[in-house]
Amino acid sequence: MRSLRKGSKLYSILFNKCPKCHIGRFWSTNNPFRNMFFSPKNSCKKCENCSLAYELETGFWYGCMYVSYAISVAVMLLCWILTNFFYPLMNIFNEILIIVIAILLVSPLNYHLSRLIWINFFIKYIPNDTN
Ligand SMILES: [Zn+2]
Repeated sequence: MRSLRKGSKLYSILFNKCPKCHIGRFWSTNNPFRNMFFSPKNSCKKCENCSLAYELETGFWYGCMYVSYAISVAVMLLCWILTNFFYPLMNIFNEILIIVIAILLVSPLNYHLSRLIWINFFIKYIPNDTN
């Protein structure tokens, strides 16, 4: 697939790569659960390859809340559609419980992806840049 090749934004987002060089890692590990709970201080500071400082300005990461919100709404809608499709007579409180549990389970992945998506809005891919 062309959109998954190095140089595309989707490549950087899905394979945890620096948005500028697509070589260095964005998060220190590829595991979203580890990034969220065990290494928040070491994660996403600076690219080990091109030295891009990921926090472009103070408070830059506040913006990824918009992305995170969109992902959460998508997960909630998906849960709502699936529960209504498979169990049309389900109690509304059980439905809400399922949606809340789904949001909690997806939250590390949401955190992981929302920062990657947010920084990819602002940084362009520059091949072979090593300074
Ligand atoms: Zn880089």
